[in-house]
Amino acid sequence: MKKILITGAAGFLGSHLCDRFIKEGYQVFGMDNFITGDFKNISHLADNPNFEFIDHDVTEFIDFKGDLDYILHFASPASPIDYLKIPIQTLKVGSLGTHNLLGLAKAKGARILIASTSEIYGDPLVHPQTEDYYGNVNTIGPRGVYDEAKRFQESITMAYHTFHGVETRIVRIFNTYGPRMRLNDGRVIPAFMGQALRGEDLTVFGDGSQTRSFCYVDDQVEGIYRLLLSDYSHPVNIGNPHEISIRDFAEEIIKLTGTTQKVIYKDLPVNDPMQRQPDITLAKKILGWEPKVDRAEGMKITFDYFKSLTEEELYKSEHKDFTGFIKE
Ligand code: NAD
Ligand code: UDP
Repeated sequence: MKKILITGAAGFLGSHLCDRFIKEGYQVFGMDNFITGDFKNISHLADNPNFEFIDHDVTEFIDFKGDLDYILHFASPASPIDYLKIPIQTLKVGSLGTHNLLGLAKAKGARILIASTSEIYGDPLVHPQTEDYYGNVNTIGPRGVYDEAKRFQESITMAYHTFHGVETRIVRIFNTYGPRMRLNDGRVIPAFMGQALRGEDLTVFGDGSQTRSFCYVDDQVEGIYRLLLSDYSHPVNIGNPHEISIRDFAEEIIKLTGTTQKVIYKDLPVNDPMQRQPDITLAKKILGWEPKVDRAEGMKITFDYFKSLTEEELYKSEHKDFTGFIKE
């Protein structure tokens, strides 16, 4: 049985990856410190003999007993509000955490895939974004802690590959959504769906002309799975190229949820990228991958998930009055 360590296992993507690798017959070790994750996301695996949970902060030395074939490093705050609230931890998990996991991969002779992001392109001047674009990031802006941690993560990963011969993979993930996202993490899909469910107006930041391209989680997991098993060690974009403005997206959510609330406009956060769309030519070519789930279908499944949450979860307002991100 192949053994895989997945960090960020109690988070949105990490928990779906645990499910997928268990389904594929792997022994899965899930690691997390719950800083933005939730045990609920993996509670269904608690009695599974092929799953073991390790409560650990990956920025501390990782003492893992036994063999490992693969590592997926997904631990990191991922929503803009999260990484503004915990900026130092965000920098540490991308740098020190990645260093620890690369060291572990080297010691075990394991192949490691790290979760990078479309944020390494910053507010992109090339559109759609191809992997050979170097990006446009403000190092000292509020998003810099995340973007630069991820850029460092890519650099140290390539260095371990070229200098130590570690087998490495780098996925550049574009906005991904689906069940198990945290309702109050401030990202646009949980934000709009939560607002619709609570009977609040939908908050569009700026004039809503900025664009995003949303990928359903099952498609993302399939892309990551194929990349891990491929022999390609340079970064690969995985995302859905269907781009939409945030203003039009708010209207789609109003139709989907049937809310009678309206759209209201708020200040645009500092350095909010104005356009984002992955060029997935490379993923199509080397992985034979492209997304299968269209936005209407994926959003319906996601809304059904949010509808199933308890009143307490729906009204938990950890970020409601958090406006630090907006101010320069
Ligand atoms: P998430 O917040 O749901 O999950 C992240 C998990 O990492 C959480 O469970 C958190 O507790 C854990 N974690 C954070 N710091 C840790 C530490 N020091 N030690 C151990 N565990 C720690 O976020 P997500 O959306 O599932 O994102 C997962 C990964 O994918 C992140 O690396 C993120 O940067 C990347 N990513 C996600 C998206 C997306 O659209 N979801 C886009 C680009 C990149
Ligand atoms: N956004 C918005 N209203 C919200 C939350 C987000 O208009 O309540 C916008 C945000 O400014 C950005 C886009 O939606 O332009 C996507 O934001 P998200 O935080 O989901 O992810 P990002 O791609 O910016 O990391």
